[in-house]
Amino acid sequence: MTNTNNGKGKVVIVSGPSGVGKSTICKEVLKKLNYIYLSVSVTTRPKSEAEVDGQDYWFVSEGDFRKRIEKDLLLEHAEVFGHFYGTPKDKVIEAMQADKVVILEIDVQGAIKAKAVFPDAVMIFVLAPSEKDLAKRLNHRGREAGEVAEERLNGASAEIAAAWQYYEYMVINEDLQQAVKECVQIIENERTKT
Ligand code: 5GP
Repeated sequence: MTNTNNGKGKVVIVSGPSGVGKSTICKEVLKKLNYIYLSVSVTTRPKSEAEVDGQDYWFVSEGDFRKRIEKDLLLEHAEVFGHFYGTPKDKVIEAMQADKVVILEIDVQGAIKAKAVFPDAVMIFVLAPSEKDLAKRLNHRGREAGEVAEERLNGASAEIAAAWQYYEYMVINEDLQQAVKECVQIIENERTKT
């Protein structure tokens, strides 16, 4: 797929370890800027009680996910911690054509694929103030069992190492409002560049 966007639309990729607070930051950015489209991914991961289908993710079966790949409906997709995640292509294109800034909250593998499609995508990686802090956040989140939380914590170091190579911006989420402010500034500056 090639980038068919000729307008002011832009893609902003936000990644970071599980539990770092990426979703909260993205939702806050969405409230502050009126030109954001926050992409809703498709996943085969089970829905947690607090999540809403169609809002946090589109929760689908593996068969449904595979059909979407076959029909070329996904901009990128990746397997993360044993489940599939993908970005629906049509909504992103639509939002780009409406000159929106599209936020993709995706993992590093997906980010690299999305960057190949949209070479001028802005890449932001969100970090926790320390590994200890991240472990605390993951345990307090209580969404996943201990083993899964540990797997996610181990995966974080590999992601962080890759992030230094690929991402233009690193944002430390020590204070939520400060992290949101930094992301808003990055997006506003990048948007006025073109
Ligand atoms: P979670 O299960 O914690 O919601 O997400 C696990 C990981 O999958 C996170 O790193 C998240 O950013 C990533 N992710 C969510 N949606 C997508 C997507 O559409 N594509 C890719 N490649 N990763 C995704």
